[in-house]
Amino acid sequence: MSEILAAPRPAVILDRTAFYPTSGGQVFDTGWLEAQGARMRVVEVADQADRILHYLESVPAGLAPGAQVHGAIDLSRRRDHMQQHSGQHVLSAAFLRLFEMPTVSFHMGDEVCTIDLETKSATAEQIDAAEDLANQVVMEDRPVEIRFVSLEEARGLGLRKLPPVEREQLRLIDIHDFDLTACGGTHVGSTGQIGPILVRKAEKVRQGVRVEFVCGGRGLAAARRDRLALNEAAGVLSAHIWEMPQQVRKLAEEGKAARKLRSDLLNELAELYAARLLRETPETNGFHLVARTFPDRDLEFVKLLAQKLVRTEGKRAVALLGAGEGSPALVFAQTAGLAFDMGALMKEALAASGGRGGGTKDMAQGGVGRAEMLETALQKIRGKLA
Ligand SMILES: [Zn+2]
Repeated sequence: MSEILAAPRPAVILDRTAFYPTSGGQVFDTGWLEAQGARMRVVEVADQADRILHYLESVPAGLAPGAQVHGAIDLSRRRDHMQQHSGQHVLSAAFLRLFEMPTVSFHMGDEVCTIDLETKSATAEQIDAAEDLANQVVMEDRPVEIRFVSLEEARGLGLRKLPPVEREQLRLIDIHDFDLTACGGTHVGSTGQIGPILVRKAEKVRQGVRVEFVCGGRGLAAARRDRLALNEAAGVLSAHIWEMPQQVRKLAEEGKAARKLRSDLLNELAELYAARLLRETPETNGFHLVARTFPDRDLEFVKLLAQKLVRTEGKRAVALLGAGEGSPALVFAQTAGLAFDMGALMKEALAASGGRGGGTKDMAQGGVGRAEMLETALQKIRGKLA
């Protein structure tokens, strides 16, 4: 161990290391360092100006530079990264070989990976064909070799991609007879170890087309999640999973039609109610004063009813209505031209019950805490207008 840093985060620098720091699209290794009987968790590894920082949860007291350290990498995480990164090389090469779509960037996330292809568009058939070719290369179990060449040599080899930074020595990842590229990442020994390469999504982005994919163990996990989700949904609909898109579309259409029907029926019901209430409430002082609480109706319906009451052709009305269903609410409305102030009356009604609300001169609404307060508040305002 050559250096220990306490701030801003505890970290150590070693004279040599097998831990991979985040770079080239691949994320860092985690693992453990053991020194003087203490076991330290390595939570992140970063390359800072060519110094590899091993961030630790904490540095034990007594640990000093010069101490001998034994490192252990989290192997399942490393293997996963190898699968994703090697899979990316294969998939990128497939898009380039088949459709001349070069990869301009690669991102490895905790769940999925993405590559950005430089192309205006990619059809579903093209995506499928590249995925097929990539998996064929996996099944052929081609050797993956790592070798070092000079920049001069590399220029003559026709690499898929040259690194942006000029180095004297280039590390080449050679997927036998399929892809040759310069890369510093960790890779499998042969393509069979990548496991399945599954495209999850392709979408247009500003610089081209972004392809989301998973490889190996992540592919299996993703397929399993899909199966569980599809089977659960299919169970609810008593359908086969292949019928799901059609069944879901049908349900969505039925839902839309049912909502339309409900809205039409409520409208019709409100109209009939309004006519009946106007009939039952004789006109006094030049308008119908309708005050009524509906324990089983919600605000939406009561608002609709209020509108019908005050906009009935040839009638003038004041509607003081309460809705008991859902959050208890009051709706006050008057036919345009009448002289009351619904907003002010609403404030007055709510002041007594501690509710909140307001509105304009012709229409106001407000919520009250409990349904029992509706009728009291209504009758109080009714008394003022009658
Ligand atoms: Zn790479």
